[in-house]
Amino acid sequence: MGALVSVFAALAARRARTLATSGAIAAAVVGTICLAAGWSRGALLLAMFVSASALSRLGERQKAERAGPVVEKGDERDATQVLANGGLYAAAALGSMLAPSPIWYAIGAGALAASAADTWATEVGTLAGGDPISIVSGSRVAPGTSGGITLVGTAAGVGGALFIAAAAALANWPVSFAAVALAGVAGALADSLLGATVQARRWCELCAKSTERLVHSCGTVTSHAGGLAGFDNDAVNAVCSGVGALVALLLS
Ligand SMILES: [Zn+2]
Repeated sequence: MGALVSVFAALAARRARTLATSGAIAAAVVGTICLAAGWSRGALLLAMFVSASALSRLGERQKAERAGPVVEKGDERDATQVLANGGLYAAAALGSMLAPSPIWYAIGAGALAASAADTWATEVGTLAGGDPISIVSGSRVAPGTSGGITLVGTAAGVGGALFIAAAAALANWPVSFAAVALAGVAGALADSLLGATVQARRWCELCAKSTERLVHSCGTVTSHAGGLAGFDNDAVNAVCSGVGALVALLLS
C-alpha cells in the first residue's frame, strides 16, 4: 500500500512539473521506504513535500525573473535534489525498521526540519524580494545567491522548522518540539554559511555576472570562480539535513 501511495504521489508531482522524471523515481523509492516504516513517517514526508511544492509554485514567474539567472536548477526537482533533501530522512526510516530505537525519530525529524527551513526560507525569501545580504560578509548579493539572506526569508525558515516540529509533535514522535525546531534552524544556518563560503561559484564572462549555473541563462558556458569545485547546492543541502539530524540527536 505504501508503494502504491508513493508511486501515485510521485506521478502527480511529475504531472504538476514539481519533479523531473528522475526526481519522481527517487521520490517514489523514498516514499515507499518511509511508508513501510509507518504511516506517521509518510505523513511527515508528505507535509514537507506538499508545503515545499506549494511554496515553490507561489509567484513562480516573479521568482524565476529574480533568481533564475543565478540558481543552478529549475523548478523540476531531479533525483539528486530529492535525495539531498529526503535521503537522510529515508535512511532514518530504514534504520528504524532494521534496529528500532528512538534515535531514528530524532535523526529523521531533525533532517526534515532542516530541509523544510531551508526550502521555506528560499521560496518565501525570493518571492518577498528585497535585497539579500551575504550571511558572512554582510554585503549585498543578487537574489538567489547562496548564502544571501533577508529578514522575511529568515523568518520563513524559522516557520518551516516550527512546522515540522509541530508535525512531529502531532504524530506523537518521541522527540521534543524544541529539539526539532532548533535542529531545523541550525541546519538552515549551516546551509547559508556553506552557501556563502565553500559552495562552488561560477562566472559568466559575457554578462559579467556571478551564477551557480554551469551554462548561464544567456547560453554562455560559465567558469569556476571560487569555492570548492563540484561542491554544489545539492551537496550543501545534504550537509544541511545532516546538521539538522545531528543537532536533534544531540539535543535529545
Ligand atoms: Zn551570461
